[in-house]
Amino acid sequence: MNVGVYPGTFDPITHGHTDIIARSLRIFDHVIVAVAPNPSKHPLFSLSERLEMVRLVTQDMPQVEVATFEGLLVEYVKRRGAHAVIRGLRAISDFEHEFQMALTNRKLENTVETVFLMPSEEYSYLTSTIIKDVAKHGGPLTDFVHPEVAKRLDQRLRSLRP
Ligand code: ADP
Repeated sequence: MNVGVYPGTFDPITHGHTDIIARSLRIFDHVIVAVAPNPSKHPLFSLSERLEMVRLVTQDMPQVEVATFEGLLVEYVKRRGAHAVIRGLRAISDFEHEFQMALTNRKLENTVETVFLMPSEEYSYLTSTIIKDVAKHGGPLTDFVHPEVAKRLDQRLRSLRP
């Protein structure tokens, strides 16, 4: 079976992430969305909240598995019997960081490839950070995230509004 791992912080999952997951299913038989704890990024949502939202958004995609991992990504990829890391590429600004990570992962494990997918252009500017800013100011979120994610963002950030 052709298995790919899509790692990220998913704080929270946006339509941009979902677009990449849907595209990856055209290439892979099984996609593991691997939610990283990433405490150094000080996520707004806990790991279990992020996992729950990814599960909710992908519930109609039976080939998608939602999991978490710790430690080296390439070790997790090998352990899960996968052979590729899936990453999304938005604007040019993503390129340098993604380039460094892909080549580092290749150095660590030469058998694991990184596959880059581009989202639909309407999502190519979307970042979880920008969405959190919109939510903080009470802006509409429906074009960016699943309605349940919008609800949770609103609840979480309501108290921070001026
Ligand atoms: P990380 O902390 O690993 O960057 P993110 O959740 O921010 O985690 O992103 C996970 C992956 O999804 C990254 O490859 C990122 O470039 C990609 N991604 C995030 N938002 C979008 C989007 N709007 N369109 C395409 N790819 C995206």
